[in-house]
Amino acid sequence: MVHYSCDACKRPIHPQNDVHHVLKIEVFPAVDDLLATDCCDEDDHLEEIQSVLEQGSPDGAGTLDESPRLLRFDLCDVCRKRFLRNPLGIAPGKQLDFSPN
Ligand SMILES: [Zn+2]
Repeated sequence: MVHYSCDACKRPIHPQNDVHHVLKIEVFPAVDDLLATDCCDEDDHLEEIQSVLEQGSPDGAGTLDESPRLLRFDLCDVCRKRFLRNPLGIAPGKQLDFSPN
């Protein structure tokens, strides 16, 4: 049996005692302009996108290019709830910039 551990808190996820959640995040450049123009030339655009994808360095060492990424994480139930409360990990309270006086 495959054993998972939570990618966030590293806690082992027991297949019978815990709920195992899978988080998938897809990050890709918004290409609305590219797709919106010339609706009839889909083939050309597909080739265009394809060439863009192929030019992207495949798993380049440390390079954070703009090529689409599909990230997958295993989460325990606690971390799932925590993620859903704050998906972008923005520190809470930063927007409440109260003046000390
Ligand atoms: Zn966790």
